[in-house]
Amino acid sequence: SGRVLILDNHPIFGGEAKRNDFDVNGFHISGPQGSNDFGIPTIDGGPDDYFSALNMPREFNYLEPGGSASGMRIPIDNYDWLTWQERRFDVGHFFQDETKPWVKDVWDSGLNMTPWNKKIRDAFTYVRSLDRRNEDSSETERWLDSITLKSYYEDKLGLPPEVTSFYDPIMASIIGLGCDAVSAYWGKYFEMPGFYKTSEYNETLLQSFPGGNAGIARHFVKKLNPEAIEGNSFENVLFGKIAFNKLDQEDKPVRIRLNSTVVSVRHKGQGKKHERVQIVYAKDGQLNQLNAKAVVMASGGWVNRYILKDLPPDYHRAYSEFGHSAVLVANIALTNWRFLQRLGISAAIWSKGFGFSCNIRRPMVIGNKSQPLHPDKPIVMTFYAPIFKPGLTRKEQGVKGRTEILGASFSDYERQIREQMTIMFSDSGFDPVKDIAGIILNRWGHAYVNPGLGFRFGMNGNIAPPDIIREPYGRIAIGHSELRGHQYWSGAAGEGRRAVEALLNLHF
Ligand SMILES: Cc1cc2nc3c(=O)[nH]c(=O)nc-3n(C[C@H](O)[C@H](O)[C@H](O)COP(=O)(O)OP(=O)(O)OC[C@H]3O[C@@H](n4cnc5c(N)ncnc54)[C@H](O)[C@@H]3O)c2cc1C
Repeated sequence: SGRVLILDNHPIFGGEAKRNDFDVNGFHISGPQGSNDFGIPTIDGGPDDYFSALNMPREFNYLEPGGSASGMRIPIDNYDWLTWQERRFDVGHFFQDETKPWVKDVWDSGLNMTPWNKKIRDAFTYVRSLDRRNEDSSETERWLDSITLKSYYEDKLGLPPEVTSFYDPIMASIIGLGCDAVSAYWGKYFEMPGFYKTSEYNETLLQSFPGGNAGIARHFVKKLNPEAIEGNSFENVLFGKIAFNKLDQEDKPVRIRLNSTVVSVRHKGQGKKHERVQIVYAKDGQLNQLNAKAVVMASGGWVNRYILKDLPPDYHRAYSEFGHSAVLVANIALTNWRFLQRLGISAAIWSKGFGFSCNIRRPMVIGNKSQPLHPDKPIVMTFYAPIFKPGLTRKEQGVKGRTEILGASFSDYERQIREQMTIMFSDSGFDPVKDIAGIILNRWGHAYVNPGLGFRFGMNGNIAPPDIIREPYGRIAIGHSELRGHQYWSGAAGEGRRAVEALLNLHF
């Protein structure tokens, strides 16, 4: 009858793309729980072009900073400024223990003010000057996929390990682990220094809703079920009240059932006419069972390999190549950000202590729901703190990171964050008691898949692991963003659509 039921274990939809909200001194301010930015997909109606499918706007405006911060260059998202678009923003590099710890414009006028020795400074200048875009070929990409990014930087380019260590957390914040654990292909994919001349990087800025990609998830749900979110304007879709009682209605073609943890999915019955998929899920302390004609698993491998009870052995073997690592995303609600304005920075990067980077963002203009951008008013500062342990194997790093992130108490992290902010910002007037209104920690135990050697193209003539997982088996198809190696929204939409279309072709 063409009906779909979506089961999600969380109390709210969105997966890795959810939002943190704070009310501070009469202002509503938001930050991303995880997924924060998006590029606008090309209009081609293809699987990754979810913007067309959802009728989403393609042009956005952002607030200009007011008051004494007027003219400050503040990022729109949480990633672009880390390397690629750094020169377009006021980014401060913090060198603890130096008499003048803050260095701005570090790669041009600031390089000689850093404590890095000449060898390291020259190595940074060299790696940032390389442009390998003309050397693209499928052989090169396959070769890059067979060595680590660390090996590319140190053995191929002859860079000192300090340069690799600098790029480790940047890679880890977008793909989960540092240069020793992912293949060099991903350095090229992300247009990192050593592949793309940084001064020529001229892409359009990545965009971000106030609560990150929760804005996209909301557009998705609104499209599937217009009654699910109150109101119809862009502003309503982003901030309208969710009608939880309308998500799972008998008469709707698409139903979303929250708080429903799937524990078992397996085929039952024989022959095309009788075969079905049996799903068991836990909700409100009870196990429930239902049968479906076909199932798309939109969850990641760390879940699928346990709940797909008749997953064939070659899929298990392929999944054994997947590793996942942890990222802590901490949103700090500030009552004001005068301490940043005094320093003249909107984003900070450092190498010692808690995390490695944090920033505030220019809020998107969203009618009456626009959030303020004035140093005397509240804002969210976000820390992306990936947990990576260079020297251990890829999988050991994931396990250790998860143990750490799930083992620490809220107050452990709160103390570390307050200390780190005090070390960096107290000289410019930061006072944790007055300036911090609230902290939300988002602990992603399996934040990202970490694509090791051969993940993209396969090794020794074998099929790449994600290509095995992509093939439907029986009436089940798997469509999670991790199959792209780099997890992002258009990949998630594309993989989901591929899985649905494969099942439609086979069974409907
Ligand atoms: C820290 C972080 C930062 C990121 N930043 C970006 C970014 O800036 N831009 C970007 O495009 N992407 C980013 N991503 C990745 C991005 O969020 C995902 O690719 C995107 O959310 C889509 O993923 P998905 O739908 O494939 O899976 P997920 O978001 O993982 O969704 C899977 C869903 O399945 C549910 N589920 C899992 N197990 C079960 C079960 N047993 N029963 C029922 N339900 C279950 C989960 O609760 C979840 O709702 C980031 C991710 C993280 C963790």
